Amino acid sequence: KSGFVSIIGRPNVGKSTLLNQMVGTKIAIMSDKPQTTRNKIRAVLTSAMGQIIFIDTPGVQKPRNKLGEFMLKQALTSLNEVDVLLYVVEANSPIGPQENYLLKTLAEVKTPIILAVNKIDMVKMSEAQNIASQIKSKIQVAKTYFLSALNGVGVAELLTGIFELL
Ligand code: GDP
Ligand code: MG
Repeated sequence: KSGFVSIIGRPNVGKSTLLNQMVGTKIAIMSDKPQTTRNKIRAVLTSAMGQIIFIDTPGVQKPRNKLGEFMLKQALTSLNEVDVLLYVVEANSPIGPQENYLLKTLAEVKTPIILAVNKIDMVKMSEAQNIASQIKSKIQVAKTYFLSALNGVGVAELLTGIFELL
């Protein structure tokens, strides 16, 4: 199995930490070279389950002018070009306006979404579950995982879940 996965989420939720945990020492490439005008390869994971190519897509931001509208369209196209979206949120902060804007955008995307509720080491499980239900009331998610990217908790299960969707 192989496919393209993009990790999305607000700044600081733990996307880079999670990518490092998933790819670990099994990095095949780490490239900053743009592959297309919109997407670039961040890392390739090769495991017994298959291969995942992690793609950086442009961030989703509320447009303030024509250029911003164009960029948002490009970002949406990118999100529709991958096989799986790995949507990372943090369990330890309430859903605010930035998250809500991202959620509105994600509601329009056709790619299957895996929700990763990160930083569960910071909160009670009930709080993490509450964040997950709020998100699932706004967008359709294929699978939900609770993890601590910092400690590597839940990362193996998440990887298995990604491969199941490829
Ligand atoms: P990004 O901006 O989404 O790429 O987030 P980073 O991976 O750079 O992480 C932002 C901050 O959150 C860093 O200080 C990380 O060490 C911290 N962080 C990431 N994952 C976890 C986690 O599972 N638990 C805790 N407590 N901190 C985390
Ligand atoms: Mg980062």
